[in-house]
Amino acid sequence: MNERQTVILPGATLGVLGGGQLGRMFVHAAQAMGYFTAVLDEDAASPAGLVSHHHIRTGYEDPQGLATLARACAAVTTEFENVPAAALDTLARSLPVSPAGSAVAIAQDRAREKAHFVQCGVPVAPHAVIETAAQLAAVPADLLPGILKTARMGYDGKGQVRVATPAELAGAWEQLGRVPCVLEKMLPLAHECSVIVARGRDGTVVHLPVQRNLHRDGILAVTEVYEGNLPPAQTSQALVAAKSVADGLNYVGVLCVEFFVLQDGTLVVNEIAPRPHNSGHYSQNACDVSQFELQVRCMTGLPLVQPRLHSPAIMLNLLGDLWFTGDQPVAPTPPAWDAVLALPGCHLHLYGKVEAKRGRKMGHLNITGATPEAVRATALQAAALLG
Ligand code: ADP
Ligand code: MG
Repeated sequence: MNERQTVILPGATLGVLGGGQLGRMFVHAAQAMGYFTAVLDEDAASPAGLVSHHHIRTGYEDPQGLATLARACAAVTTEFENVPAAALDTLARSLPVSPAGSAVAIAQDRAREKAHFVQCGVPVAPHAVIETAAQLAAVPADLLPGILKTARMGYDGKGQVRVATPAELAGAWEQLGRVPCVLEKMLPLAHECSVIVARGRDGTVVHLPVQRNLHRDGILAVTEVYEGNLPPAQTSQALVAAKSVADGLNYVGVLCVEFFVLQDGTLVVNEIAPRPHNSGHYSQNACDVSQFELQVRCMTGLPLVQPRLHSPAIMLNLLGDLWFTGDQPVAPTPPAWDAVLALPGCHLHLYGKVEAKRGRKMGHLNITGATPEAVRATALQAAALLG
């Protein structure tokens, strides 16, 4: 036990389950601080595997792969939400794992996640869990119109159907294969926001500034962060709620808590991600500590110091659609990065994905500047150049 409380210093090897872009940016942060890295992901061309010192090419549940990772590393984290919690539990028998499998298991299941929010006293959307035909038939009429969401494996708006009537609800549950679902009442959103918190082994919690987010087609498109991006009451409510969600999980690691802000100003927690999050990417260029450095600090037991925003920022997601022209199935071509990078305060992050596909997250652009107005003007110019 004592051994687990020891700080893991640079020179050690840190492991990550999952080889996506979040893993890649974790690897970059860990390496910048002098750690060695190991990535477990079966894809030979995974964005994180391509830049890591070690790449273990197996599935998440492969006992040999997990054993190799455990032998190579001093501590392990995860970047992919749907890593089986059992894999984290297996690793935790031989080395520190953060976040814990138990916390990840809750974040992986919308029904358990909602129950956790309720337990923490955090406001949630009116909802009903649907696992049986009887529960389907018993859904209160005032939850409609609503959104039926699969309890597990949803992301970027996938596994969701909007329903207005009991008949549509029944049809949607059929369409989703009668798997366990959560029906949420459709809420009148004014906007969406999120906050990244980092909680250490000793219970210290620090946070990044609250982010204001714009989604398109269920996928994050734009994040805006600057002093005054949200009314102060919403900012403080979001911070209090995020802290109680993390404390309630006895969480160790980086956690993103997403919120809806309703048209009457009410804040409602939407969901959590047990890892760094797309909406926290601006921290790479606009904060003195990025969300990926926070992940390194949490898993190694290094001190958590409250991050500071040193510039207003806008993050633009770069989806694979930008590589295509119009609706024509022409050969994909990369956007004109040189023109974008001629604008002030543009920081390009590309994930090294081999193939551009529509809707695929290929990278992001962090824009910093002296004032929110200057950043917004640059963001509009960048968006126009990207087409
Ligand atoms: P995902 O796991 O795919 O991110 P979310 O539950 O966050 O799923 O839903 C994706 C987006 O759909 C949200 O960011 C929001 O824009 C919209 N949405 C989801 N639930 C509701 C709701 N109850 N009322 C209104 N809009 C919603
Ligand atoms: Mg979401």
